Amino acid sequence: MTSKRFFIGPARIGSPLLCVAAAFVCAAVAVADPAPKIAIIIDDLGYEMTAGRRVVNLPGPITCAVLPSTPRARDLAHAAHAAGKEVLLHLPLQSESDKGEKEPGLIVLDTTREEFATSFAASFESVPFAIGVNSHRGSLLTRHPGHMQWLMDEIAARGKLLFVDSYTTHRSVALRLAREKGVPAVRRDVFLDSNRDEQSVRREFDRLKRLARSRGLAIGIGHPYPETLALLEKELPRLTDEGFELISVSEYVALKDRPSAATDRLTVHAFQVDTVD
Ligand SMILES: [Zn+2]
Repeated sequence: MTSKRFFIGPARIGSPLLCVAAAFVCAAVAVADPAPKIAIIIDDLGYEMTAGRRVVNLPGPITCAVLPSTPRARDLAHAAHAAGKEVLLHLPLQSESDKGEKEPGLIVLDTTREEFATSFAASFESVPFAIGVNSHRGSLLTRHPGHMQWLMDEIAARGKLLFVDSYTTHRSVALRLAREKGVPAVRRDVFLDSNRDEQSVRREFDRLKRLARSRGLAIGIGHPYPETLALLEKELPRLTDEGFELISVSEYVALKDRPSAATDRLTVHAFQVDTVD
């Protein structure tokens, strides 16, 4: 037997042997290249039942982030859970533009360690079924290692909770401190509706899909605005046919939370100024 016998040159293209080989290659590629994954969180739920219910009724594992101690927090968390949606505590953290208005559960720079613990416990208790925390506003507070350490201590103390940095400033230290404390954590890639008009929301949704295609997975945050909900109601049912997989925030964190992941170093270009902050 000589090696010549196994040579497959151009003249043999179309041979049964080559077709079998090609089928194996295709199968291998299919296994190695799963559908790009997208996770979406809708923030700022808790004040308004109609929009909140619309979010809960979105198709697929959209995550519902509920503001603590708001009038509808408990009802919406229950509704989300009943609909199979994951729930996050959407914790208000002081932003650079805060002008003294006091949201329920707001943590500010002046908050002491003791006040922090009491406030966090009340906020966490007010949002049933929360599997983790994501930051509301926070462009000032997420830059402060002391307060972020307290936050991660509170999250870690409750076990099995995750954290999503809404990333309203590129100077946020929240993700780093979460990882130092062993809290499973990720950072937001795209804000869908920093500008609320239909065209902008569509552009950011397309950007989320492009990021998912190029990196394998991406996470976006939106708000219960009519423009955002109209787009998601239309586009989410098409994602599977377009080759994407919509996943929950816990699935996303499980896949993404690797301190050495190369993609973490690439997120700077995805940073957007958060006009809702
Ligand atoms: Zn928010």
